[in-house]
Amino acid sequence: MTGERSDLPETGVVTCTGGARRIHRLDETADEPAPACKEAFRCDSEFREVSLPSLLPFASYSLCVQEGCFPSAESNKTTTTGGLSPHDGGGRA
Ligand SMILES: [Zn+2]
Repeated sequence: MTGERSDLPETGVVTCTGGARRIHRLDETADEPAPACKEAFRCDSEFREVSLPSLLPFASYSLCVQEGCFPSAESNKTTTTGGLSPHDGGGRA
């Protein structure tokens, strides 16, 4: 039913820290489980390799929308058009 997520890989990484649970794309070039985005450089975070289908439908996790992970996921929940517009996020004109 959720064919829109067919582009998701089978494996990803999640943060083990107690805060926000984010699913990152697995950096396949890394020796250890690491996200493909800049979160990989956060020394205070540990990452665990997970099977994405086991986490569906992401009730407790959210996809990381940073570049390198799943930037396209952000467009699914926001209907902003016209690309990046830093002044168009306040919800008040
Ligand atoms: Zn990420």
